[in-house]
Amino acid sequence: MLVAMQTLESAPRTNVIVKKSPVTGEKLGEFPIVDRAGVEAAVARARSAFASWKQTTVEERIAMLSRLKEVLRAHRDEYAQRISEDTGKPLVDSVMTELLVVPAFLDHYKKTAPKLLARKKLPGSILFPGKAAYQEHFAMGVVGIISPWNFPFQLAVIPALSALIAGNTVVIKPSEVTPITGEIVREVFQRIGLPKGVVEVVQGDGSTGAALSESMVDKIFFTGSVATGRRVMAAAAKRPIPVELELGGKDAMIVCADANLERAAKGAAWGGLVNCGQMCTSVERIFVEASVHDRFVELLLAEVKKVKVGGPDEGADMGPMTFPKQIETVERHVKDAVEKGAKILFGGKRVDRPGQFHEPTLVTEVRPDMEIYAEESFGPVLPVVKVKDVEEAVRLANDHQYGLNGSVWTRDLKKGMAIASRLECGQVTVNDVVTSVGNPGLPFGGVKNSGFGRYHGDEGILSFTHTKAIMADRGLLSSEPFWFPYGGKKYDSLKEAFDGLAGGSLPKALYHFVGMMRAK
Ligand code: NAD
Repeated sequence: MLVAMQTLESAPRTNVIVKKSPVTGEKLGEFPIVDRAGVEAAVARARSAFASWKQTTVEERIAMLSRLKEVLRAHRDEYAQRISEDTGKPLVDSVMTELLVVPAFLDHYKKTAPKLLARKKLPGSILFPGKAAYQEHFAMGVVGIISPWNFPFQLAVIPALSALIAGNTVVIKPSEVTPITGEIVREVFQRIGLPKGVVEVVQGDGSTGAALSESMVDKIFFTGSVATGRRVMAAAAKRPIPVELELGGKDAMIVCADANLERAAKGAAWGGLVNCGQMCTSVERIFVEASVHDRFVELLLAEVKKVKVGGPDEGADMGPMTFPKQIETVERHVKDAVEKGAKILFGGKRVDRPGQFHEPTLVTEVRPDMEIYAEESFGPVLPVVKVKDVEEAVRLANDHQYGLNGSVWTRDLKKGMAIASRLECGQVTVNDVVTSVGNPGLPFGGVKNSGFGRYHGDEGILSFTHTKAIMADRGLLSSEPFWFPYGGKKYDSLKEAFDGLAGGSLPKALYHFVGMMRAK
């Protein structure tokens, strides 16, 4: 496996990220931490580049950025290997969940972005007859993108592409947990030959992220934990600049009595264990109607038993946990659940080998007072809750601090859609898991502690712009009904116009608006 080594023998250890393999625990390299001055310099370079980048057309920007497709194709295996080395995830996951989305997004926005960003004519107003109304969008400036370690390529590159297509320049701060992928992010943008400063990458830890959120950026797009999200928002409030927070989740899966249980069990196993469960949209609470609970659990157990755990070179379905601290969270949640009466049907502990491997874990008889239910586990655990009926499932699904994703399983699609509409979260799949996030046309984001703001879809481009309203008059008249002077009969005409408008008589309103001009 290719090792991305960046040794800095002379640098003091405190100024570097020491990267260790999640598979073996061996040191893979050291990566310099960019300090506050370095972040400010990167933001200044991005600011200079913005002046000319914003002058390009959206078609030109998409054409330049689409060169990424060729770069990813040419280096597909190398990048997949390096991402897997960094995160421990299977090669299948590296291509499927990190690289594959990029061409799909570029193609989607090639079709939609030019229209989205074009000036639109909007309906005029009875208050201002004869004036044309328009809406247009303009780029914000420099966007700071702070990304996490679970999908370290995709979660840096997709928001960056959205911001760039909208005409902004970006400064990306990848996670210190996955600096090898941070270098890939830098490389892919370098390889497409963008003008200097259009994409800046500043590797580093929380201090680098804090420096970026306190710098002169014009927007922060943050993906990560709730605790850090709060800090980023507090920093942004000082200037103030817009912030988008893509935070954690505790996604509910509702298995109705009439579901295709075989499909639901396979969906739960994949949706809860893909990427070792380190996914904001991971299945984290499985509500099953009592009448099918035992059968579903039996099927799910069979699926979980089949999941092969190992490193990227071992043809495994599930790799190690990427972040050493996260495995401790999973262990704490499992322990607490067992102490409070939950049953472990499979797994429940670390795998006895080097690295950060944890067994795929199926837990039943889970209750809301358990940490494994109340907190985000972000690991390979499948907590199952038996519910009386769909009503109880929907109530429990919604009565939670998080609201990111959810799924509903039933053979009755109409019923599934109705339940989907009742879930308090950003996106729902019916008889499927996770996939909505991969559809570039659908907005993605959360509610409650899962954050706010949307990226992907139309909103994913527009959220990186300011919206401008323009009202245009030909300028032929020498005055306007609402302008000075206010004397004479102006107030009487205004009252008549108001009564016409409020009373539903538009001709009357119009007549008196014109009268206001003549009132002396
Ligand atoms: P984290 O909050 O620890 O770190 C995220 C990023 O913030 C890192 O780059 C980190 O260096 C940086 N950071 C740390 N302190 C900072 C500070 N004070 N100011 C600015 N930046 C700072 O999160 P993580 O552990 O990397 O990621 C896991 C979390 O991310 C989970 O909760 C997961 O659910 C969430 N997540 C959400 C989504 C989503 O789209 N909603 C997607 C993936 C992950």
